[in-house]
Amino acid sequence: MPLPDRGLPRPGMSLPLCRFCRTPLVHTFLDLGNQPLANSYLTAEQLVAGTEKAYPLHVRVCDNCFLVQADDAVPANAIFDETYAYFSSYSTSWVAHAKAYARAMTERFGLNPGSLVVEVASNDGYLLQHFVEMDIPVLGVEPTANTAKVALDRGVRTDVMFFSEQTGRLLSARGDRADLMAANNVLAHVPNIGDFVAGFRHVLKDEGVATFEFPHLLNLIQKVQFDTIYHEHFSYLSLLAVEQVLRANGLRPFDVERIVTHGGSLRLFCCHLGSRHEETDALTKVREEEQAEGLSQIETYAGFAPRVEAVGESFRAFLATGKASGRRIAAYGAAAKGNTFLNTFGTISNDIIGVFDASPAKQGRFLPGSHIPVLAPADIRQVRPDDLIILPWNLKDEIMTQMAFIEDWGGRFVTTFPETKVLA
Ligand SMILES: [Zn+2]
Repeated sequence: MPLPDRGLPRPGMSLPLCRFCRTPLVHTFLDLGNQPLANSYLTAEQLVAGTEKAYPLHVRVCDNCFLVQADDAVPANAIFDETYAYFSSYSTSWVAHAKAYARAMTERFGLNPGSLVVEVASNDGYLLQHFVEMDIPVLGVEPTANTAKVALDRGVRTDVMFFSEQTGRLLSARGDRADLMAANNVLAHVPNIGDFVAGFRHVLKDEGVATFEFPHLLNLIQKVQFDTIYHEHFSYLSLLAVEQVLRANGLRPFDVERIVTHGGSLRLFCCHLGSRHEETDALTKVREEEQAEGLSQIETYAGFAPRVEAVGESFRAFLATGKASGRRIAAYGAAAKGNTFLNTFGTISNDIIGVFDASPAKQGRFLPGSHIPVLAPADIRQVRPDDLIILPWNLKDEIMTQMAFIEDWGGRFVTTFPETKVLA
């Protein structure tokens, strides 16, 4: 006779389930403990009030589909409330990237005034405006009303809505079917990745093409880019995992390009399962590379946390040596990735006297968690730090060029990946 169920924990009972395949998530990829939201810069009043919130930042990997994913730990409205609206057009390199994309896609797929281009998470129209210039009809789908308004003002037809299977059906039913769909840097941000991808099947024409750009998990692992992990990112994507999500929703990849944004991203070209697009060698190559690096073996993922700890040991040793010898240590770049880095290693305002950042919105505030003050780059000549740690490693060359004058007083540049070292 079976024992009565007393509600005792059973294996897998309290574990979160995979966002995609619903398998219990037994394996941790990286547990970064409790961290504040990486984009919540504090005012002096907030700092004194001591009301800063922290949430678990625990990333797991599914041993069935190998989707690497963060636990749901933050109420959706907390992320929405505390992050300021991001206007894509403010970044000149991003706009140039968008223009090159529009031209390349138009040429490759023969887009013309009879085509339709749909972008999901179209922001302020930074991308679609380039198709409008070429007289190619567009539709943007954007959940944030104030950014969508900017798009409409510049002549980019935009619907304010979240994209999902339901909204995909709705667009299709009213006759919006696309030759090209773009989803740049949004796949990692959607909580329900399967439902999101399902929408593309409904909107895409039979021979239409959807492109997804996302930071490549393989880069994150190889370069120990754990600082790209923060609460706004729900998934960390490989071709292996994304391909399964696509196929489960009637789509498949057929080509891939490697792009340099966010430290190494993939642009995946996708179509309906039965479409004529032929698979390219480039796609096979990325598949083989992920295979060779062990992304389809669960042991590979377990090896990541010790490598992050090694980055931390090197960083802590650098701080300790610097402080012991009386060096004044500052940092450059108050971006989300720097906050994950500093908070993971328990850095405090005692360790680093200030972080310089060009964004006026952040100056005069304090970094979340570490409470290091954010200063204007112009202040650097007064502060005269002995060491300047470059936090956004993707902008290293740019920062070193702009700040070259710190060498006037013997200031040194310092990088932290994969170990902390002074640049000669
Ligand atoms: Zn899964």
